[in-house]
Amino acid sequence: MARYDLHCHSTCSDGLLPPADVVRRAAANGVDVIALTDHDQLAGLDEAREAALDAEITFIDGAELSVTWENETVHVVALAIDPANEALIEGLAAVRGSRDQRARRIGESLAAAGVPDAFEGARAHAMSDQLISRTHFARHLVDSGQVRDMQDAFRRFLTKGKPGYVAHAWPTLGEAVGWIHGAGGRAVIAHPGRYKLTTAGMRRLLAEFRDLGGDAIEVVSPSHTAAQSADFVASARVFGFKASSGSDWHGPGESRWELGQLPPMPDTVDPVWADW
Ligand code: AMP
Ligand code: MN
Ligand code: MN
Ligand code: MN
Repeated sequence: MARYDLHCHSTCSDGLLPPADVVRRAAANGVDVIALTDHDQLAGLDEAREAALDAEITFIDGAELSVTWENETVHVVALAIDPANEALIEGLAAVRGSRDQRARRIGESLAAAGVPDAFEGARAHAMSDQLISRTHFARHLVDSGQVRDMQDAFRRFLTKGKPGYVAHAWPTLGEAVGWIHGAGGRAVIAHPGRYKLTTAGMRRLLAEFRDLGGDAIEVVSPSHTAAQSADFVASARVFGFKASSGSDWHGPGESRWELGQLPPMPDTVDPVWADW
């Protein structure tokens, strides 16, 4: 059985290793098919694809799109997209522009709460000057000794209601699915177990996603307990979604699961890769 990892990050968004290193590490870990899925960003795909060719593993062009749905931030993984698609390229460029504004506002809000220079600190952690994420703020807070670890940074400063959290309007679910399908790709709801939704809210999200033509949901994810995985297997069957699997790897020491070291996909669902 081929091994798949269809969700991970590089320095082109908030990962710790450059794209080629991510792919080489996946290959060394026995992965047969890898998708790089940087947040709102396609810039690492060429380098990753070349590294995959060298390492003789299969590469899937991907991205992880930020979406606002009913006031909640939802992530949609894009798989097997055409990275040259103009509408997708332009859409994501606009999102990165808005990320820059948001990062400045996060910096101002932290300064007002007595944490100076956080924007500069976060920017120094971001390899790609176009994309600053809360992860970069968290790394800066850890490095400067203001928090114990990444979890502490998010809990005390970067989650809803905390000074380093600013409300932000990401694209809609419809826009994200439209860009992904326009680029020939598959749209996958990332780590559904992470969203703070009621049972009815989750049903509305999945129903809207199905009505938009959404393709799959992530079933195997480090964000899920075994019970949640089983729940999402059931949801995939109810809504007619395929299932995906990804480590959501960000870097050595920062991720719960090692790149490519995933529990098996339950055999009661259709994997998103079934017809690749
Ligand atoms: P952003 O897209 O800028 O809002 O940043 C979101 C990223 O922050 C996610 O992709 C995760 O990598 C990271 N993240 C969110 N919550 C946590 C958390 N509690 N602990 C560690 N990392 C987190
Ligand atoms: Mn991330
Ligand atoms: Mn995510
Ligand atoms: Mn991710």
